[in-house]
Amino acid sequence: MQDKSPNSPNRQYTLERTRNIGIAAHIDAGKTTTTERILFYTGLIHKIGDVDDGNTVTDWMEQEKERGITITSAAVTCFWTQKCAKAGEDQIYKAFKDVSHRINIIDTPGHVDFTAEVERSMRVLDGAVAVFCGVAGVQPQSETVWRQATKYKVPRIAFVNKMDRTGANFDNALNDMRTKLKAYAFPIFLPIGAEDKFEGVVDIVNQKAIVWGPGDIANEGLNYEIKDIPEELKGKAQDALKELIDAVSNKDDAIAELVLEDKPITPTILKAAIRRLTCKIELIPVLCGSAFKKKGVQVLVDSVIDYLPSPLDIPPAEGTEPGTDNVVKVDTDDSAKFCSLAFKLWTDPYAGKLVFFRVYSGHLKKGDTIYNPRTRKRERVSRLMVIQGSERKDIDSVYSGDIAALVGLRNITTGDTLCDENFDVTLEPPTFPEPVISMAVEPKTKADRDKMSEGLQRLSEEDPTFRCFTNEETGQLIIAGMGELHLEIIIDRLKREFKVEANVGAPQIAYRETITKDAEGEGKFIRQSGGRGQYGHACITIQPNEKGKGIEIENKIVGGAIPKEYVGAVIDGIEEAIRSGVHAGYQMIDIKAQVVDGSFHEVDSNELAFKMAGIFALKEAVKKAGPIILEPIMKVEVTTPDEYQGDLLGDINRRRGTILGIDAKAGQTVLNAQVPLAEMFGYATAIRSLSKGRASYSMEPLNFEQVPNSVEKAILDTAAKRPAART
Ligand code: GDP
Repeated sequence: MQDKSPNSPNRQYTLERTRNIGIAAHIDAGKTTTTERILFYTGLIHKIGDVDDGNTVTDWMEQEKERGITITSAAVTCFWTQKCAKAGEDQIYKAFKDVSHRINIIDTPGHVDFTAEVERSMRVLDGAVAVFCGVAGVQPQSETVWRQATKYKVPRIAFVNKMDRTGANFDNALNDMRTKLKAYAFPIFLPIGAEDKFEGVVDIVNQKAIVWGPGDIANEGLNYEIKDIPEELKGKAQDALKELIDAVSNKDDAIAELVLEDKPITPTILKAAIRRLTCKIELIPVLCGSAFKKKGVQVLVDSVIDYLPSPLDIPPAEGTEPGTDNVVKVDTDDSAKFCSLAFKLWTDPYAGKLVFFRVYSGHLKKGDTIYNPRTRKRERVSRLMVIQGSERKDIDSVYSGDIAALVGLRNITTGDTLCDENFDVTLEPPTFPEPVISMAVEPKTKADRDKMSEGLQRLSEEDPTFRCFTNEETGQLIIAGMGELHLEIIIDRLKREFKVEANVGAPQIAYRETITKDAEGEGKFIRQSGGRGQYGHACITIQPNEKGKGIEIENKIVGGAIPKEYVGAVIDGIEEAIRSGVHAGYQMIDIKAQVVDGSFHEVDSNELAFKMAGIFALKEAVKKAGPIILEPIMKVEVTTPDEYQGDLLGDINRRRGTILGIDAKAGQTVLNAQVPLAEMFGYATAIRSLSKGRASYSMEPLNFEQVPNSVEKAILDTAAKRPAART
């Protein structure tokens, strides 16, 4: 217990009345609709939006509206007075009357290509609502999102949505959570009816029924009644209460004691215990409803308040003192030194560059200076903002536990700590996976090249899983990201936000060349047609070098066959030819070369002539040295439920992969393999369809190995069609 309140007297909503939550789910489970309904009931939007009309508030990116998926996590702030409480005459509900809370909602995406978005939002959440489809139950992607929430230790409540749909089955969904997610999940609300007969919910803790009217759009959905539990459900409701108390008493000593002593467990006591366990991630309370039909949404928000942690209910954030391993605790306290984490960059069409940040300690007001330990730079905060529904609202100050946006600051990237200059601490940034796919892009009109580079640069600042760079060998601009859809969205944003249309190429592989045996080569560059001539002549020997040793070139000239001042030019020529490649035009690796002999001309010799001689000598030698083409090999790790193992192994074999090991880990199979990068394009899509989205993979570069003959032939055919090499 702290002796003094961590709350500043100036803040409107205390820390205890603050919730930072995410709505996480499989795509299509209904999290956009649920968020939309929450914003509606909290009074932030006046016309209720439907995803299908493309006018929802959180889907504020154009392409999201078109695609109907939430790609970018938008942080929205809303306020909630426990309304069930107000409407009900019942004493239990009256107890909560007029307790108003501030809820910051971060909408997390459900698509596998956007795991970075999920990861970064999980990092700043205190709790999450996991939305499941009442018909499909636990879908594959929900498993991934669930694992991420577990990784970041995010307490959860589960909302079984779509109870109105044909085939909706609450018990099946609950069972799925227990078996597939191994969740200690127990209902706190049971459905009354299902499918088109879904009317409302039974509040198990209070043993009451909450029944909604027919929720059409005109009717604002506030018309629920708190009633006695229907006769036919009474037994089930009592059993569920007993099961809930049992489940809680298994984990909570206070309740276990009451049970042992046979003392009454009042709803208030039970709720407090459920809250304790939920905050410790030892219990998942399960609710149900239909966001679309506006049934169960108010009780969902009530449960967010009742069971999900406030910033004070979770362990304080930890950081390190820059340059040391010293761990620094960041206490959730308004009077402590300011410390926050920038978790999302966004270029807003109206407000410009926004940096969304989560305050862990202290407070910040307009005009204050913040310090970035990464850049060691200070910046003045000229504008602060929160997103409320579709509105951007300027605010003067933020306090610990808040989520808000900084406007107009330049040198900040995702994951930066922003703090008081006297509080030199770096919070652990979220971790992001390496990009797995890349492709070449070029502007449709040449004049747009600079604009395109700038756009790609800006997008890569916003999105840590998106990279762009120039391929030194081909001069092409390459973009790399988490999957085809990811890059497709980038291209789309380039067009919409930066007005650059791009042509995209098929993904390019960086092949390499080397040699397999020793050889000699001679190069002559002799021109004597009028005026001053050219004379360069060099003899060299080459040998394969040890793998990974790179290029080694030596001067072995004796007796001044080539004057010293020209030997350097020969070596330059050899190096240049090695960079451009000989066999198929790819950079060569792991070769040793020696300049052994040559001749010169008193008048006509010059550097250029000897450089050309070096190039020719190397080319001739390589042709005789059994040149081969190498390809990048990736180390691939696939994690899958057992049942897809066979299909995934077959697929890896077809991709010229070698299986290195098959292990069992936490109920899943882990396949380790090495696979040529050239065969890995499209793998994200393939693995998704082979495993119904349930397997995941990661890969990293391992080494370069010789390509098989068939591949070599294809590469050589393509190389032959390319314009002549640079020399
Ligand atoms: P998200 O991809 O998880 O954000 O899901 P959306 O909110 O976009 O919903 C996906 C689809 O399911 C849309 O067509 C919604 O109208 C529909 N939907 C969402 N909630 C419900 C619900 O409670 N009942 C029914 N019948 N449909 C719903």
